[in-house]
Amino acid sequence: MKAKYSIVVPVYNEEEAIPLFYEAVIPVMDKLKEPYEIIFVNDGSKDTTLEVLRGLAEKDKRIKYLSFSRNFGQQAAIYCGFEHATGDAVIDIDVDLQDPVEAIPLMIEKWKEGYEVVHGKRTTRKGETFLKKFTSSLYLKFLKTISGLKIPKNVGEFKLFDRKVIDVINSIPDKDKYLRGITAWVGFKQTEVEFVRNERTVGKTAYSFKKLLKLAWSGVISMSTWPMTLAMKVGMWGGFLSLAAFITFTVLVCCGIALPLLVWIFPTITICFSISFILTGLNNIYMTRTYVASQGRPRYIVSEKKNFED
Ligand code: UDP
Ligand code: MG
Repeated sequence: MKAKYSIVVPVYNEEEAIPLFYEAVIPVMDKLKEPYEIIFVNDGSKDTTLEVLRGLAEKDKRIKYLSFSRNFGQQAAIYCGFEHATGDAVIDIDVDLQDPVEAIPLMIEKWKEGYEVVHGKRTTRKGETFLKKFTSSLYLKFLKTISGLKIPKNVGEFKLFDRKVIDVINSIPDKDKYLRGITAWVGFKQTEVEFVRNERTVGKTAYSFKKLLKLAWSGVISMSTWPMTLAMKVGMWGGFLSLAAFITFTVLVCCGIALPLLVWIFPTITICFSISFILTGLNNIYMTRTYVASQGRPRYIVSEKKNFED
């Protein structure tokens, strides 16, 4: 029996990139001689992205699109695509051709060998600054340490998932799923396909430093409870040090060495204050997450969709 593939493509202000992506991906998918759908998720673009998608969906029924009522972020767009995908294998790819479409058949080959998750692994990352590569590798090490998960290196959102895995990911109700972390967390049989990451040729990255920081933070908070244990550790170490200072001080006084009391009291009080602030702050982070989850707001809102009739 022939398999069906779903290509999920989040797009934000990509009016120029979409036609180029379409021209590139269609011949690659046609060559497979198996059914497929391409699901674009318009993440609240401000340019003519939606008009471009309407045009494509009109002339080609394999092109489906969903359009958000505003910008909810790439991760939300990906999960929306996953929830609407009907393929036996689902491939998530960026529209800017930085992830080469030619790698898709290689991923499918691995899937046919029995792998349930196939990561696109970048051997070279053209056009990325040393600082970006260095900070992202440092971040990954940190995230792996605190979460205890085997998150592969040089791997982004370009991945293939088996239907089984997509169903599991879709069933996770967490509002702030971090795809790289969740993929490691779900397990299954995973492998990698290597590719060279190209430079963007049209448009520009939508990832400002602020957006990247937000994503990195979401990874830490959603994939680990380490900050919570950190609060406990800071509290215990703070308490231990204060106690040690107090004992040392008492011993010194007992030995007849006169020390000005205020010199010790002042830092002790400030340490206690900072500990209490840190603990409260960290607890608030988790409480906020619980609060947001309890509000039950959807992760995204679709305002328009096309070609999903079947
Ligand atoms: N994207 C999105 N919503 C956003 C930001 C980006 O859907 O808020 C899409 C974007 O159109 C592209 C993919 O996510 O298809 C990756 O974005 P980008 O190329 O800007 O990221 P970079 O490659 O610089 O990490
Ligand atoms: Mg890009």
